[in-house]
Amino acid sequence: MSATPHTESYYAASANDTRIRPRLEEHLETDVCVIGAGYTGLSSALHLLESGFKVVVLEAARIGWGASGRNGGQIVNSYSRDIDVIEKTVGKEKGKLFGEMAFEGGRIIRERIEKYNIDCDLKNGGVFAALNQKQMGHLKAQKALWEAHGHTEQLEILDEAGIRNVVNTERYVGGMLDKSGGHIHPLNLALGEARAVESLGGKIFEDSAVLDVVEGEPAIVKTEFGQVKARFVVVAGNAYLGKLMPELMAKSMPCGTQVITTEPLSDEMAKSLLPQDYCVEDCNYLLDYFRLSGDKRLIYGGGVVYGARDPDNIKSIILPKMLQTFPQLKDVRIDFTWTGNFLLTLSRLPQVGRIGKNIYYSQGCSGHGVTYTHLAGKLIAEVLNGQATRFDAFAALPHYPFPGGHALRVPFSALGAWYYTVRDKLGI
Ligand SMILES: Cc1cc2nc3c(=O)[nH]c(=O)nc-3n(C[C@H](O)[C@H](O)[C@H](O)COP(=O)(O)OP(=O)(O)OC[C@H]3O[C@@H](n4cnc5c(N)ncnc54)[C@H](O)[C@@H]3O)c2cc1C
Repeated sequence: MSATPHTESYYAASANDTRIRPRLEEHLETDVCVIGAGYTGLSSALHLLESGFKVVVLEAARIGWGASGRNGGQIVNSYSRDIDVIEKTVGKEKGKLFGEMAFEGGRIIRERIEKYNIDCDLKNGGVFAALNQKQMGHLKAQKALWEAHGHTEQLEILDEAGIRNVVNTERYVGGMLDKSGGHIHPLNLALGEARAVESLGGKIFEDSAVLDVVEGEPAIVKTEFGQVKARFVVVAGNAYLGKLMPELMAKSMPCGTQVITTEPLSDEMAKSLLPQDYCVEDCNYLLDYFRLSGDKRLIYGGGVVYGARDPDNIKSIILPKMLQTFPQLKDVRIDFTWTGNFLLTLSRLPQVGRIGKNIYYSQGCSGHGVTYTHLAGKLIAEVLNGQATRFDAFAALPHYPFPGGHALRVPFSALGAWYYTVRDKLGI
């Protein structure tokens, strides 16, 4: 068995389940064929199985091999662009639906962990940290916005003294605590969800890259050594989908972000950095995100590489950021470094819809996807069960191709990122 191994990360090194699933080497028939075993694919599979569909999942590499098994592990509510931006696009009335759904993904994750007994180091509490007063103003507006949409219990503004109580650095002027945020071991969440899929009779094949999808009723999904005839197909390959569905390519772009992980810290050091064990992300456009692992390592991420080339100098990109936040870690060893790809859209809102009559997709949540992907799976199950309202709300969000097409989408976005980096640095 020679499935592409997981990237060498702290998560792969501490995975709960190292079983390799078989490669597809037969012809199968099923209700739904899911392409990709990240959160989008696994959440779809699980919701569909729970509502009585037969499901086959085809994964090119390993379960959670993509962003879902490599991310910062931060349960961040709402979307990569907030509800007010969506309201400007779809109007206040339709915007309400997005407001209602904004915290649902986090609840789904917790339900999954509880119901299927998934061991993935869940900790509650996420902090948005402001580097200047302008960002503080944004956080206050964000709190008011989320509360106006009914999310009233869990948010707390932190002043300068308040943020020092949750993250021991002088970088921040304040922040906002979301008690319904939190963090998880992302790969172990994906592996636990995969086990849940199998417990309900779902079949997962690894090392089974889909090479072609022949539209029709049924559709035929082909791999090198097998094929699946399915009434419905769910495309969940996100930043790793490549050219499989050419119609999805122009309006999204894979981007890399990098993560480093320290050696396990002493209890005393860990507690001094993040006394409440919350996860933290700052409010910059190109943001830093960090948290403690279950065994008290600091997991620190940041940086964006447009076009998703793998940088070979991850430590030199991320370590200075970590030491700027926590200079007290200057003598600590870095045990792991890795990169992973997320999928960016121009609007930074998810790209959702149908191809033909029976092929559904959701991708491109542009950086914050841990919660949205779990919601996406539920929405896909709803639409296949004949309840399309919520799926169609996302599907109606407009998307635009990157200017200049494939050749120019990297330079264009890099230019955009440069502009935002300068704004972040100047605090404007
Ligand atoms: C380093 C990093 C840090 C991040 N941190 C956070 C965070 O802290 N919080 C947050 O909210 N979001 C974060 N994100 C984003 C989040 O991880 C993603 O939005 C989310 O995991 C996407 O899930 P997915 O299932 O859509 O895609 P993926 O997890 O990438 O899964 C897609 C899967 O499809 C498979 N595939 C692709 N093509 C085919 C094919 N042809 N045939 C079969 N299989 C195929 C791939 O192998 C892959 O396993 C981060 C992303 C990265 C990369």
